[in-house]
Amino acid sequence: MAACCRDILQYETDKTIQIQSTNFGAIKWVFHVIVFSYVSFALVSDKLYQRKESVISSVHTKVKGVAEVKEEIIENGKKKVVPSIFDTADYTFPLQGNSFFVMTNFLKTEDQKQGLCAEYPTRRTLCYSDKSCKKGWMDPQSKGIQTGRCIVYKGNQKTCEVYAWCPTEAPEEAPRPALLNSAKNFTVFIKNNIDFPGHNYTTRNILPDFNKTCIFHKTKDPLCPIFRLGDIFQETGDNFSEVAIQGGIMGIEIYWDCNLDRWFHHCRPQYRFRRLDDKITNETLHPGYNFRYAKYYKENNVEKRTLIKVFGIRFDILVFGTGGKFDIIPLIVYIGSTLSYFGLATVFIDFLINAYSSACCRSFIYPCCKCCEGCRVNEYYNRKKCEVIMEPKRTLKYVSFVDESHIRMVDEQLLGRSLQDVNGRKVPRPLMDFTDLSRLPLSPPVPPPIPGQPEEMQLLKEVVTPTSNSPNWCKCGNCLPSQLPKNRQCIEELCCRKEAGACITTSALFRELVLSRRALQLLLLYQEPLLALDEDSANRRLRHCAYRCYATWRFGSQDLADFAILPSCCRWRIRNEFPKSEGQYSGFKSPCWLDRAEQP
Ligand code: GDP
Ligand code: ZN
Ligand code: ZN
Repeated sequence: MAACCRDILQYETDKTIQIQSTNFGAIKWVFHVIVFSYVSFALVSDKLYQRKESVISSVHTKVKGVAEVKEEIIENGKKKVVPSIFDTADYTFPLQGNSFFVMTNFLKTEDQKQGLCAEYPTRRTLCYSDKSCKKGWMDPQSKGIQTGRCIVYKGNQKTCEVYAWCPTEAPEEAPRPALLNSAKNFTVFIKNNIDFPGHNYTTRNILPDFNKTCIFHKTKDPLCPIFRLGDIFQETGDNFSEVAIQGGIMGIEIYWDCNLDRWFHHCRPQYRFRRLDDKITNETLHPGYNFRYAKYYKENNVEKRTLIKVFGIRFDILVFGTGGKFDIIPLIVYIGSTLSYFGLATVFIDFLINAYSSACCRSFIYPCCKCCEGCRVNEYYNRKKCEVIMEPKRTLKYVSFVDESHIRMVDEQLLGRSLQDVNGRKVPRPLMDFTDLSRLPLSPPVPPPIPGQPEEMQLLKEVVTPTSNSPNWCKCGNCLPSQLPKNRQCIEELCCRKEAGACITTSALFRELVLSRRALQLLLLYQEPLLALDEDSANRRLRHCAYRCYATWRFGSQDLADFAILPSCCRWRIRNEFPKSEGQYSGFKSPCWLDRAEQP
C-alpha cells in the first residue's frame, strides 16, 4: 500500500485518563443529568425538532357602526348645533397596506375659494408695513404665496397678503370631547388568510362555525374576529375618548404559532394589541395622528372646497408567526449543537482539580491543614493529567546539584557569567522509574544506610579536599577549567554542588552507573546488539553514553536530559576514564533535532 494511503487510512482517538473517584464521578453524573434534562426540556418546549417557516398572509378589514355628530355652526351671526349622521363611508378612509383608519374628530374650514386674502395672524405672519412682506415668498408653513402687501386682517391686526385658498385655515385646537367619541362602539371585522408555502398549508382566522354576532373577548371569545374599538383600547390600558381627540396609532397583532404535526395539530391565531404612537409625548410636540383632506364642489361656476383636518385612529394589523413540522435535519442539528454541553462536567472537574491543587498546596497557604489532603489528591491527579513541556530554546539548560532535592531550569543567555552563579528556576525532579533502574547491571554490595542521613549523601564517602588548582566557582574541589573557546566557556563552569562538600564523582553509584565500562558496553549493545567496538570509536561512544547515563540518572526524564548540563567534575572524570586520543573535546551541543528545526 502506498505511503499516502496508509496515512489517510488511519484513525486517531484521544487517550483519556480515568479517575476512579466517587466524588468526581458523582459531580459528573449530576452535570450530565442537569444537561440532559435541560436539553430535553428545550427540545420539547421549543419544538426544536421541527422545521419552522414564517407566515405569509393577506388581511382584509370592514369597519361598521353609525355615529351622530353635533356640529356647531354660525348662521346669521348665531351659534347653532346641527346634528348629522356619520356612517362607514364618512369616517373610514382607504389606506395602503394592512391598515385602516377611523375618524374620531375633525376641524372644518368651509367655503374656501382661490383668491387673495390676509393670512391668519400668528407671530410669523403679523406685519406693520409692506416692507415686512416679500413678493413671491413661499413659506412651507404658510398657506399661500405672498403678494408683498401688508393688509388688515381684523381690527388693527395686519398680516401679509397671500394668494391662497381663502379664507385661510385657522390653527385651532381639536374639539373636546371628540366629535365622534361614539366611534368606540364601532366594530371591525378582520379577515386574515395565511399560508406556509414550505409546508403546503393554508388557513384563515374565520372558523367554519363562526358566529356573525360575536365580539372578541380575551377570555370569553378569544377567536372571534370582530373587535369593538373601545375594547381594543381597554386591552392596552388606554382611554378611547382621550385618544379620540388628537388621534393615534394602534397595532393589532395577529400571532400564529402553528404546530403542523399530525398528532399535535394546532393552528389558531392569537390577538394582541399594542399602542404604536408615542402616548407620553408632550401635548405641544405634534401629538396624535391627523391629516387634511378636502371636499370640492362648484358654486356659481366657481370652484370651492371644504377643508377638513381629520383626527383619528390608524389601526395597523401586524401578522406574524411560524409554522413548524417535524423534520429530521433540525433534530440532528440540535442534537449536534447540544453535545458540547456534556463537556461541561469535564471543564468543571478539571477546574476543581487545577484550582484546588495549585492554589492551596503550591502556595503553602495551608501547609498541613485538613483541606490540603484533598488538595494533595488533586495535585496527584494534576500530575497524572498534565505534562509540562518547556519551549526547547537554545538558551534552555537544566542543572542539578547533588546537595539540592530539586533541579534548576536556566532559560537565559549567560553573557560571561559562570553557569554555577545563575540561580534559575526551581523545578521538581521527575519521579524515578525504578523498573528502569532494576535493569542496570549494578553490583550488589551497597552498604546499609546510616540512620539520620540522606541516602544519596551516604554514597559520597570519599570526601576529597579541594585542590588548589580548582576554579573559584567549584565547591567540590574536582572541577577543572573549561577547554572551550572563551565565549563558550561559561556553560562548562558548573560544579556538582551549590555549597562546599563531597563531590558526586566520589560516590559509589557514580562509578556503578556512569563509569562502569561493563554497564556502558551493555547499554550500547542493548541498543545495537551486533555493535563491534573498535579501539578508535569505543572511547567516544562509551564517553557519550556515560554523559547520557549521568543525565538520565540525575535529571530523571529524557526531555530534561537533552538540555542537562554536566558538572565540570563529572565531565572530566568521564573524559579521564574514556579519553580522546587527539584534539579538543567539543562540549555540550543543543540537541541536533533543534538545529534542524531552526534551519530556515
Ligand atoms: P567530542 O566527543 O569530541 O565531540 O566531545 P565531548 O566529549 O564533549 O562530547 C560531545 C557530545 O556529548 C555532544 O553530543 C554533546 O551534546 C554531548 N555533551 C557534552 N557535554 C554535555 C553536557 O553537559 N550535557 C549533555 N546533555 N550532553 C553533553
Ligand atoms: Zn566542583
Ligand atoms: Zn564535583
